[in-house]
Order: sequence, then C-alpha cells, then structure tokens
Amino acid sequence: MSQPFKVTEGSLFQQLWQTQSGHCALCSKPMLRNRFEAAHARVWAKQRATVDHITPRSKGGSDAPENLQLAHARCNKIKGNQV
Ligand SMILES: [Zn+2]
Repeated sequence: MSQPFKVTEGSLFQQLWQTQSGHCALCSKPMLRNRFEAAHARVWAKQRATVDHITPRSKGGSDAPENLQLAHARCNKIKGNQV
C-alpha cells in the first residue's frame, strides 16, 4: 500500500502548532494540545486547539495552509458567531 502524497490534518496541526508556539491566534493565550493536559473534559472542550479558517469558507476562504490557524475551540466559536 502506498501513502498518498498530501498534508494530513495531523501534520498540518503540528506545523501550525509550532508556528504559533501553542498559542491561540485569536486571544494569544496557550492552548491545550492533548486531552490529558486538561483537568476536566469541560476545560478541554473550551480550550483545546482547533483549526480555524482565517477567511471563513462561507466567505470563499480556502483550505490552503495560508488560510488556516489554530485557535481555542471557544474562541473559534465566538469568532464564528460574530461573522
Ligand atoms: Zn483563544
């Protein structure tokens, strides 16, 4: 079986994480990378790192790495609500 040549979500995540040094693109605070870093599932649900589209797909934003950043699940949701 040959591996398809494409950037997997996992490696893209690693790349963005390193670029942003584990900090949220929206509020600049540290994000949680691993489920086990969170004291509670509720904390994890809000503070985990999620992939955010800088220009929302609903506004014609692409899935290209240049249009992607990492943000807290909570911040991502707030931003989504504002658009
Ligand atoms: Zn944030």
